[in-house]
Amino acid sequence: MSSCIRLWVASLVLCCLGMALPSTGGEIESKHILVGSDRAREEWGSNNSVITRVGRNHFRMNLGDQPGIPHQAAFAGFRIRRGAKGNPLRMDVVRGKGHNASYKEYFYSWSVDKTNWHPVDWRGNSLIFPEFPGDQVWVGCQVPISYSQLAVMTEVWKKSPYVTVRAIGVSHEGRSLYRIVVTDDTSTHRRKDRWVHYFANQHGCEHNAQWRVVGMLEWALSDEAAGFRKRSICHFVVMMSPDSPSHGWMRANAEGTDMNRSYLLTGSDRKRQTTEPYLWQKDFEKIMASESPVTDIWSCHTWGGMIDILYNEGPEIGKKVGTIKEFDKILDQADPDNLVNPIGRKEGGAQTKWSLGPHKQFGITAFLCEGSGGIRTKAKNKQSGAVIIKALSKYYKGTKK
Ligand SMILES: [Zn+2]
Repeated sequence: MSSCIRLWVASLVLCCLGMALPSTGGEIESKHILVGSDRAREEWGSNNSVITRVGRNHFRMNLGDQPGIPHQAAFAGFRIRRGAKGNPLRMDVVRGKGHNASYKEYFYSWSVDKTNWHPVDWRGNSLIFPEFPGDQVWVGCQVPISYSQLAVMTEVWKKSPYVTVRAIGVSHEGRSLYRIVVTDDTSTHRRKDRWVHYFANQHGCEHNAQWRVVGMLEWALSDEAAGFRKRSICHFVVMMSPDSPSHGWMRANAEGTDMNRSYLLTGSDRKRQTTEPYLWQKDFEKIMASESPVTDIWSCHTWGGMIDILYNEGPEIGKKVGTIKEFDKILDQADPDNLVNPIGRKEGGAQTKWSLGPHKQFGITAFLCEGSGGIRTKAKNKQSGAVIIKALSKYYKGTKK
């Protein structure tokens, strides 16, 4: 048997056994780099972006669009579905006419298992990756988290006696919209007396902010938070825009709304809002109309550096709880690694944001929680969330009564 035929027979046997073939040809092939599409449901993608081979393990990615955000290209998420092992990669990214450079405002990360992520920095317009240790590779912005990973995590959280999962509807592309509620129903404090905190991320590819919210949630379920759970109700929305990561849509949802310019002061409106903003605001208004309305809302985002907190004061600040200055002091004590900067200024700007909007509509305390672009690991992002909620548990002492 010639070596060629022998190889062919070996391949056939492997195929019949359902085993993955090793990479062929010793280089990454452009047909194996996937950027997703409406139907492909990649976990991280880049809508309508086009991959072209430049040379050996060297490609160009011409970025596609974000609906409704003409100045921003889709961010550069992709997957190599096979053949990556032993190969390095250079990806030159071209933003396209009319687009700004926002897609490279942050580091990206790569992983061969979607769990352990390695940060990679921009070198000019290129992402340069080291030799990959696995055949399949995922790449996304910041420290990635996908909708399907969130769905799996939600199933695990659901098993806790302190968790209620509200699936409040489905996104434009059919993904579940999860609000996770944490409280201890064996508490002797009546629900209407408990402090109510609401944490949410609006922009779908601000993954560091999503890990921050996960860190808050995990802290709320820890032993350390046993007392806090009895005297508070926490609502967590890790991803308000679950269609975004698979398309690399940083700000936009599928229907072209900037998710943090989507709040309506005049109230939720099916005709004036797209699917997710409408469903989330309607759900939020339902909580506001209940016996346990939200005391403070946290709108969680990213920009460069460590965490920055901007605020809008509700009626309890400086009255039933301390001043913002006192909160800042508590935060500082809870934060040995200085992940959170001293609390800055009052928030201003658009009333369609998910901080100023609810503050204006209901008069409640609202925090805009930004930054963390300088935090490069999942663990530290989660830690930053734990720091914030732990400080909050000390700041909102006792109950509302
Ligand atoms: Zn944002």
